[in-house]
Amino acid sequence: MAGIIDGKRLADSIRQEIAASVNEFYKTYGERPCLAAVLVGEDPASQVYVRNKVRACEQIGIRSESYHLSAGATEAELLDRIEHLNSSNNVDGILLQLPLPASISKMKALDTISPAKDVDGLHPINVGLLVQGRAELIACTPSGVIEALRRSQVSMTGKSAVVVGRSDLVGKPLALLLMQENATVTVCHSRTQNLQHVVSSGDIVIAAMGKPAFLGPDFIKEGAIVVDVGTTVLKEESEVSRIFGTSSRKWEDFQQGKTVLAGDVHPAAYERASMYTPVPGGVGPLTITMLLKNTLRAAQLRRR
Ligand code: NAP
Repeated sequence: MAGIIDGKRLADSIRQEIAASVNEFYKTYGERPCLAAVLVGEDPASQVYVRNKVRACEQIGIRSESYHLSAGATEAELLDRIEHLNSSNNVDGILLQLPLPASISKMKALDTISPAKDVDGLHPINVGLLVQGRAELIACTPSGVIEALRRSQVSMTGKSAVVVGRSDLVGKPLALLLMQENATVTVCHSRTQNLQHVVSSGDIVIAAMGKPAFLGPDFIKEGAIVVDVGTTVLKEESEVSRIFGTSSRKWEDFQQGKTVLAGDVHPAAYERASMYTPVPGGVGPLTITMLLKNTLRAAQLRRR
């Protein structure tokens, strides 16, 4: 039977380690690291994400500040806010919650964040440093995946790792990190030909597509390690029945109006794996944990 990589348990233990380091930081500098969260607009999901991140900071002793700009805020107003946080001596990390309203350039906003405070690891300077293998602030989901694999004693050296997805946020940085772990990396995307053939060659398969249950059992080599980054809220009854069947707990949840999430890997495919990350409870908890780690790291680097 496939073993579960329990992201929640791993995240709890990493958070304890970070909390101890935050305490040390406080003893040394007499102040706490501080994360500033910036939200633009009224997207309910984004509001929940920001609240969760702020709460996670508080739980381990990181200070936080929240800035909420209205949906009608201009690009200039947002850039002004970011510049202000860049120059604030009280702020160590800046988190800009995405997506932004269409009238604001995401690229421009992310590029404006000081690389030293870029706790999401998306600034071109930090991405460039990652390419060279000397980044301090690395995108949170990819570094969370690597941390989960390391802590689950998965040796990546020499293994064939297939990443499905090539986004700036997940697929690309993950491919670079896996290469640094000495895996032989293949990156797939929507134009990849014979996807099933390529993915089923992977000793380690990392799915980051946002296509619920797209990768069925024939995509997964027997005994492979499967990391399912994909997280989609299912809206259609037919999707819930296709993926989980009508006698499942998820089906009942859906009927009761509860949120049902699906990863990119079909549950039947997990059974072919030697180890896999579930959705939810796999990669998600590690992502926020890495944000906390980056905030502490940014605070330490700024004091040096
Ligand atoms: P994204 O920017 O939409 O990228 C999706 C990638 O998947 C693209 O590179 C796309 O290829 C590829 N793709 C789409 N359909 C495909 C297909 N049929 N065959 C092969 N490749 C295909 O998404 P993202 O931001 O990377 O996020 C991916 C998923 O991870 C989403 O479900 C998201 O919610 C989830 N996520 C979870 C966490 C977490 O903490 N758990 C964090 C971040 C993201 P092209 O480049 O060719 O279009």
